[in-house]
Amino acid sequence: MQKNKNVVELIDITLSFQDRKVLVDLSVNFQSGKVTALFGKSGSGKSTILQLINGMIIPEYGKVKVFDDCFDYQQANILRLQIGYVVQHVGLFPHLTIEKNISLLGKISKQSIKSMNERTRFLMDTVGLSQDYLNKYPHQLSGGEQQRVGLCRALFLKPPLLLMDEPFASLDYSTRTGIYNYFKILQETEPCSVIIVTHQFDEAETLADNFVWLENGKIKSQGNKSDFPSIKTDYLAAL
Ligand code: ADP
Ligand code: MG
Repeated sequence: MQKNKNVVELIDITLSFQDRKVLVDLSVNFQSGKVTALFGKSGSGKSTILQLINGMIIPEYGKVKVFDDCFDYQQANILRLQIGYVVQHVGLFPHLTIEKNISLLGKISKQSIKSMNERTRFLMDTVGLSQDYLNKYPHQLSGGEQQRVGLCRALFLKPPLLLMDEPFASLDYSTRTGIYNYFKILQETEPCSVIIVTHQFDEAETLADNFVWLENGKIKSQGNKSDFPSIKTDYLAAL
C-alpha cells in the first residue's frame, strides 16, 4: 500500500502564459520514495511543472496535490520548507560562506547552532566536500563543488520531496558522473522522493526509477525502469 503512494499528483492541470496554453489537461502522478526523471524538449513545460509543485505557479484549472493534500497557497512558505529545490545555476549567495549557504534554512527555522553545525558537517562529508571549505565563498569552488553545496543546502531540513531542475547540466561529463555517486549515497542515507528534470539519458538511466516524457505540455509516455529502453528509443526517434 505505502509502496505505491504518490508524493505528488497533478490532476487535469491547464495553464497558459499570455494566451498560450503551456499545460493542457495534464494529469500525472509521482511515486513516493522514487526518483522520477522528467524529460522532453526545451519549452515542453518541465520547469513549469516543478514550479506548480512548489506553489510558485498556480494553475488556471486542475489540482496540485503534494503529500496527499491540495497545495495550500496560504501556507506556501511553510510547505516549501519540506520541498527541496535545486536548479542548474545553483543560486548560492556569493557574500555568504559555504557553511552559511548550506545552513540557511536551518537559520530560518531557528535551529540551534549545535544542530546546524552537525548537519552542515554531516552533509558536506556525505557529498565529499572537505571541511576546509566551511569558511570559503562560492566563487572559490569549482562548478561541481558549488552544485554539491546546492544539494546540501536543499537537503538541509531533510525534505521528503526534492525537485531538481537540470541540476548538473552545466557540468562536464566526469564531474557529473562523480556527483551521481554522491547523489546515490545521499538517497541511501536519507531516502526522499525526487523529481529530476534532465536532458541527459545517461543521467536519467543512472539515477531514476521512473520516467515521464513531456511533449507540448502533455504526457507523451511514462514508465518504470523496464519501460525505459523503449521510451528512450521512441524519444530519440522523435527528435
Ligand atoms: P522547459 O522547462 O520544458 O524548457 P518551461 O516550463 O520553462 O519549459 O516553459 C514552457 C513554456 O512556457 C515555454 O514556451 C516558455 O517560454 C513559457 N513560459 C515559461 N515561463 C513563463 C513565464 N513566466 N511567462 C511567459 N511564458 C513562460
Ligand atoms: Mg526548464
